[in-house]
Amino acid sequence: MIALAVLAGLLTAAGYLAACWLAPFGPCLRCGNDPHRRARCRRCDSTGRRIRTGRRLLTYLRSLYREAQ
Ligand SMILES: [Zn+2]
Repeated sequence: MIALAVLAGLLTAAGYLAACWLAPFGPCLRCGNDPHRRARCRRCDSTGRRIRTGRRLLTYLRSLYREAQ
């Protein structure tokens, strides 16, 4: 039963990371990609988009892998 829960968690995490790999950008949390608020948003540099947390994790893992070689 516990093994099943762990497996489900791993599958969810894998799916999330895959989604972040395929679509690295999400809407900006501060301005929500609202055109009016976006214009002066410093968090996303007025792009209305942000790099998703999972994508940062992937970049981090990749840098670890590269250093290990
Ligand atoms: Zn923004």
